[in-house]
Amino acid sequence: MANWKMHGSMASVEKLTANSLGLEDLSQVDVAVCPSFVHIPQVLAQSVGTRLKVGAQDCSHMQSGAYTGEVSPDMLADLGCEWVLLGHSERRQYHAESDSLVAAKFAAVLNAGLKPVLCVGETQEQREGGEAFTVVAGQLHGALAAQSGLQDVVIAYEPVWAIGTGLTATPDEAQEMHRYIRMRLAELGSLDAEQVRLLYGGSVKAANAPSLFSQPDIDGALVGGASLDGAEFAQIIAAAV
Ligand code: PEP
Repeated sequence: MANWKMHGSMASVEKLTANSLGLEDLSQVDVAVCPSFVHIPQVLAQSVGTRLKVGAQDCSHMQSGAYTGEVSPDMLADLGCEWVLLGHSERRQYHAESDSLVAAKFAAVLNAGLKPVLCVGETQEQREGGEAFTVVAGQLHGALAAQSGLQDVVIAYEPVWAIGTGLTATPDEAQEMHRYIRMRLAELGSLDAEQVRLLYGGSVKAANAPSLFSQPDIDGALVGGASLDGAEFAQIIAAAV
């Protein structure tokens, strides 16, 4: 899954989308791209009738109303969007998103018939303080405990210290956390934790993707920076086949 963040123009997004549509492995791997809100209609139009999925990077927790600047899950569903990233660390850090707000967004997304990708992950300070597992468990619980109908949920483990920094969790570190996340999901009781897709995110590149994907509990990746380079992204997708 590609997170294009606040990057791109109509022209560059067209090229990136064409690159994803040209991926040889599109028939074998689920590939989704998350452009900025303004580019979503363009990407949807370009990919109509193909296997490429389109997601948003965030949405409002409200259905409609006087919320200037917000985009509702219903609007995204109406466009034909399928996925929504929720609780990305940049939203938590720069927009003060709390677990309870993420939970409200999560419920609104399910209610609109969209599929949420819940992002969780600890900061460097929290990892060094031995709190990584507690923090991730708290984020999972905060967003999911009160939900029902969790069938299509995807979780992205994105250690904050690895996002856009060039630092990556080692495959063993990532695997350890992914196994832990599956255990916590199993406790919720309302979903089949072994079937939930768990993505790793944080400086994933063509060079480290194969060793990450070889881990039993890593089912794919949420890719930021490297997804803006067509050739690099194609190699990451090839490693997921
Ligand atoms: C992200 O922002 O979701 C991400 C994983 O970014 P990057 O791949 O650039 O670390």
